[in-house]
Amino acid sequence: MQTITSVLEMQILAEDLRSKGQIIGLVPTMGALHEGHVSLIKLAAEQADTVVVSIFVNPTQFGPSEDFSKYPRSLEADVAVCEAAGVDIVFAPTAEEIYPKGYSTFVVEEFIAKPLEGVSRPVHFRGVTTVVAKLFNIVRPDLAVFGQKDAQQVAVIKKMVEDLHFTVDVVVAPTLREPDGLAMSSRNRYLSATQRIEALVIHRALRKAIEMVASGERRVDRLVAEATHLIGLHRRVRMIYVSIVDRTTMVAIKGEVVPGKAVMVIAAWVDEVRLIDNEVL
Ligand code: AMP
Repeated sequence: MQTITSVLEMQILAEDLRSKGQIIGLVPTMGALHEGHVSLIKLAAEQADTVVVSIFVNPTQFGPSEDFSKYPRSLEADVAVCEAAGVDIVFAPTAEEIYPKGYSTFVVEEFIAKPLEGVSRPVHFRGVTTVVAKLFNIVRPDLAVFGQKDAQQVAVIKKMVEDLHFTVDVVVAPTLREPDGLAMSSRNRYLSATQRIEALVIHRALRKAIEMVASGERRVDRLVAEATHLIGLHRRVRMIYVSIVDRTTMVAIKGEVVPGKAVMVIAAWVDEVRLIDNEVL
């Protein structure tokens, strides 16, 4: 496995691999790798000859009051995880390498990125689309794997790929969960034991909605009300949003859900830790 930090070196290597007919699979991450990331790597390896994992805590996707400076960074451990998972190349540039002094170009998706995460994190997706477009230009992947855990991110990236004519196949991996249902996340390591138990209500609320749909409930207001009620029972958990949206456009569904097309998305603070999760209904 090679670890590369230079954009130019990564571009030269990617061009060389492409000229040899290698299929390149990219897994973009911010590091602090867990089993969820490993499942993305495995999925990439099934479809690609060369798997590139990027590890970059992207400053432009964090708002001024967000956790950029304290976001967990563990490059050495992450490199070991990649090596064990059979990754070929780790691309781990510095912030200066990606955003040199005077940097001023951004990629903005203007519709899907607006609601939900876009409301409470207004610069978030601008940072995500910018860095992912850059990674596509640097690594020149044939396919890139993203987690359904970040449902709105998947929808935004798919739209960017379509709108900007990228020839990258966007592969979506299912959400990996802890045995008790908590969606794996780098931010889970901020949770104390008590907060972690409280955080389980997010997935319980999603499961409840799935059960209600399975037993015939279709009314969006009923499904949202029940999930909101369950979350409200937990003192440490403050709901940011509970919404049922179209899984492709992220537009809120009114009236009744059509099973398979709708996704329930939840964001909540567990004390000072912001968590998101979702399930297709
Ligand atoms: P992050 O490092 O948190 O930015 O995540 C990098 C990629 O891993 C994104 O595509 C995420 O959606 C994905 N990911 C994060 N958590 C999980 C999970 N629990 N299961 C599957 N994919 C995940």
